[in-house]
Amino acid sequence: MKKQFAIIGLGRFGVSVSTELYKLGHDVLAIDNNEEKLDDITNHSTYSAVADGTDEKELRNLGITNFDHVIVAIGDDLQASILCTLLLKEMDIPSVWVKAQNFHHHKVLDKIGADKIIHPEHDMGNRIAQHLVSDRVIDYIELSAEYSIIEITAPASMHKKTLAQLDIRAKYGVTVLGIRRGKDVNISPTAQDRLYREDILIAIGHNNDLRRFEETN
Ligand code: ADP
Repeated sequence: MKKQFAIIGLGRFGVSVSTELYKLGHDVLAIDNNEEKLDDITNHSTYSAVADGTDEKELRNLGITNFDHVIVAIGDDLQASILCTLLLKEMDIPSVWVKAQNFHHHKVLDKIGADKIIHPEHDMGNRIAQHLVSDRVIDYIELSAEYSIIEITAPASMHKKTLAQLDIRAKYGVTVLGIRRGKDVNISPTAQDRLYREDILIAIGHNNDLRRFEETN
C-alpha cells in the first residue's frame, strides 16, 4: 500500500531514508532549508521543497498535516531538531521519527513525544525505511546487518489457521518464536497452535524474508 512520508533535513541520513522509501514506491516529500541540498534528491522523491523545519507556517503551507509519517533528519542543529519535533507533535502528526545525535538529545526527544528515536550509527537509513512501510510491524530488533526479530500483527488471511496449515517457515523462511494474545505470550508455539486476527507474532528471519512476510495480508 502506498504511503506518504515527509523527510525534513537532507543530510546523508535524510537522503538515504528518502531514496529508499521512494524506491519502495511511496510518496516522499523531501524538505531542507538549504536549496542546494535539493539538487540531488529531486529524482529520488515525489516532491521537494525549500522550507525551515522550525517554521510552523512554512510546514503548514507544504501540507505537512496531511502526512502520517514525518522523519526529522536535521543533523547537528539540536535546537532546530527539537523545535521541529515539538511543532510536528503539536500539529498532531501521528508518527514522528527523529534522528538523535546523542544521549541528551535522545532524552529531550523522548520527553516531547517523538514516536521513535533513531541512532543512525546503529540503524542504517534504508533498514529503517523498510520497517516503516509496514503498519503491522510493532517493533523489531536488529540481530545483525541481515537478520532481525520483528513483532508483527498476524495477517488477516491467517485467521483461525494452525501453524502446520500455514507452514510459515517453508513458505517465507521465517520462524515464529512466540504468539502474543492480549496479556498472554505463548513462547513455544507448536504446529497445532492456531493464529487469530488480533495476535501479535514474534518472528525471526532474514530481512528479505521478513519483508515478504510483512507484505502478506
Ligand atoms: P547527516 O549526519 O545525516 O549527514 P547533516 O547534519 O549533514 O546530517 O544534515 C542535516 C540536514 O538538515 C542538512 O542538509 C541541513 O541543511 C538540514 N537542516 C538543518 N536545519 C534545518 C532546518 N531548520 N530546516 C530544514 N532543514 C534543516
